[in-house]
Amino acid sequence: MDQQSLFNVEPQPWQLDDQDDWLVARIAFSSAPYGPYDYSIPASMETAVKPGVRIEVPLGRGNRKMTGYCIDVIGAFHELASTVNRSRLKPIEKVVDAAPLLTSSLLGLAHWISDHYICPLGQVIETIVPPGVRNQSGTREMLFLSLADGVAEGLETMKLSDLQRNILGTIRSSVQDWTPRELAETVGCTTGPISTLRKKGLIVTTSRRVQQKTHEIPREQRMSDLILNPEQEIALDAITKHIDANTHRTFLMHGITGSGKTEVYIRAIQKIVEFGRQAIVLVPEISLTPQTRQRFRARFDRVAVLHSHLTAAQRAWHWQQIAAGNVQVIVGARSAIFAPTPNLGLIVLDEEHDGSFKQDKAPRYHARDVAHWRASNENVPLILGSATPSLESWHRAGEGTYEKISMKKRVLDLPLPDVATIDMRADFGGRKRFGPISQKLRQEITQSIKDGGQVILLLNRRGFSTRIQCPACGNVETCPDCSIPLTHHVEGNKAVCHYCDHQIPEPRRCTDCNNPSIRFSGLGTQRLAATVEAMFPDVPMMRMDTDTMRKPGSHERALAKFRSGEIKILLGTQMIAKGLDFPNVTLVGVINADTALHLPDFRAAERSFGLVTQVAGRTGRGEKGGRVLVQTFCPENDAIQAATRHDFIGFANTEMPQREEFNYPPFGKLARIVIRSEIDSKAEQMADHIAEEIEKSASELQKEVVVLGPSTAPVEKLRGKYRFHMMLSANHQGDIQAVVKRAQTTIKSIDDVQWIVDIDPQDMM
Ligand code: ADP
Ligand code: ZN
Repeated sequence: MDQQSLFNVEPQPWQLDDQDDWLVARIAFSSAPYGPYDYSIPASMETAVKPGVRIEVPLGRGNRKMTGYCIDVIGAFHELASTVNRSRLKPIEKVVDAAPLLTSSLLGLAHWISDHYICPLGQVIETIVPPGVRNQSGTREMLFLSLADGVAEGLETMKLSDLQRNILGTIRSSVQDWTPRELAETVGCTTGPISTLRKKGLIVTTSRRVQQKTHEIPREQRMSDLILNPEQEIALDAITKHIDANTHRTFLMHGITGSGKTEVYIRAIQKIVEFGRQAIVLVPEISLTPQTRQRFRARFDRVAVLHSHLTAAQRAWHWQQIAAGNVQVIVGARSAIFAPTPNLGLIVLDEEHDGSFKQDKAPRYHARDVAHWRASNENVPLILGSATPSLESWHRAGEGTYEKISMKKRVLDLPLPDVATIDMRADFGGRKRFGPISQKLRQEITQSIKDGGQVILLLNRRGFSTRIQCPACGNVETCPDCSIPLTHHVEGNKAVCHYCDHQIPEPRRCTDCNNPSIRFSGLGTQRLAATVEAMFPDVPMMRMDTDTMRKPGSHERALAKFRSGEIKILLGTQMIAKGLDFPNVTLVGVINADTALHLPDFRAAERSFGLVTQVAGRTGRGEKGGRVLVQTFCPENDAIQAATRHDFIGFANTEMPQREEFNYPPFGKLARIVIRSEIDSKAEQMADHIAEEIEKSASELQKEVVVLGPSTAPVEKLRGKYRFHMMLSANHQGDIQAVVKRAQTTIKSIDDVQWIVDIDPQDMM
């Protein structure tokens, strides 16, 4: 804690006083050295220093000026007083912020994230407070005018021109703060005479930061409440009980697609808004569609939608509005869990199984776990909703840690769509190869369009061909920086690495043996679109994937066209699988259900099941009903089978025993350590060293933490760096953190090698 113990510095006179009324600020930094370190607070700054404000301090031997976050103010009677070593503390130099950037509750959350995910506190705080708030985006330093002392009283007797008297009189008679320009406009002169009065000392100025421009929160046409069906009523009752009692509870709302979960969220939120409290609704980024916004804005007056296309200034403005209590409902992706609500009443995580709730850079937090900590700390209910819950949440609900709410029927008693598999092995084995769309699927598409319906086709791979291979030597074109095959994109005639975006012109010859008959194979969305176009030349079709949806707003525009019926066939990646509610979709085709089934990841089956079930749920939402065709090379696979029955419980029942056997989550706890370096052998050496230190640390602490590996990562090379990884497995979550933290103190770094710890990893590649 005492940073000076790192560097020998002589004590200063002000460091030797010895009374009980000392105050020390504990400061954390967002870059190394992260601290936290303690600094004394000079008497003149005592009232300005609060936890959550930024402070400028001298750091290290050279007294480099650094800005850090005050995370605690500690005095003689503070519970942390004994942790302060008061000899030789340097004083802080400057308090940067007039008010704390984050509430004490968010600061508490930051402490938990830092501890749980093993990430420096300063770095966590930078994640919580948006950059626009830190650098005051969208605000401007402005000058405000007021009368100098005595001017107001003496105005009548002063020797002044009429204009001057008018200017001063206008300031005197108004409660408003004037800027020079506004005042000049009101009086009807230029700013010249005002400057003259300033020079004479009759007008004084103060400067203040003000919001440059406000961003209106749009409102939608108000919509009245729906009449809840019995299952929705039961769900709402269970939640309302805890809202009324002001107690924390986590609900796992397992409701099939189209069972009306969102309507229940809205009703629960209405309750807490009546009490003057705020709700946070987290959805996957991709679900932040106009449809979602509209649903909330049609029911509440003040809804902030936080999506990734906001500018820093807009984000900062929303943050301030939320902090001021002006917003009732915050709808946003992962990071909206950090919304600075003054009086939180409820948190909802919709599609709680979605992988996008986990951040893939430090702090590697999972919004579901952060939400759980925040909800229990602020004593409010948390609702996790999904048609295909994560097995982690399902397990907790089974144990009774979460309260399970089941919604088994679709609203208005609409039936779930029929799902049939098409065995693509048969298709390939027959006389003729059919390409990406089987005969059966082709017939069904024709029929659906003829009947006035719309079609969704899912293929979870973008690009044209996913494999570029030389038939002569077998060489597969791969990224020079990553061990990843390049994908051929016809748009722009290029081959692209989907990991690092490295691009080369479409190869004409094998880069290894120069053979000209290079072969493009493997199906991506571009090729599928070309096939569909050729097969149904008169049917308007649209492709939706990250390549076609790069521009802000393109997602919205595309969905609007589909909603209006202008587009008949929508094809795309998982982007189209989630949350969309289009009653006229009568057919869903899954082009290849197996794309993710065979990845070396213990969640491969869970993800495949989830994706097929979710996309199947996009149909049968209207009177015309719906039908789903799933093309697969493994129709007998348990996950695919369960998805055809919309049978989450059946899937969980076959999957859970396998997880238990290998002590994978939700049974055991996992952490993943990834080591990377441009030099293969250095990465390997470091991996071995880390594994050794972890094992040593585990045995010293007598904790059962098993090290699996190290081995090369499935993606052996990424962005020019070789990668090794290992898994840490334990029965108790805290054991992993304890063992890693202890090992961190003995692990010796090797030059040019980086390593990261990922607690509860989602990405195994
Ligand atoms: P989920 O989130 O479970 O997939 P939604 O909340 O999106 O389901 O509901 C599906 C559709 O049913 C929406 O169009 C919604 O407006 C409608 N809906 C929900 N509840 C009711 C109800 N009680 N009566 C009539 N329609 C409803
Ligand atoms: Zn690459």
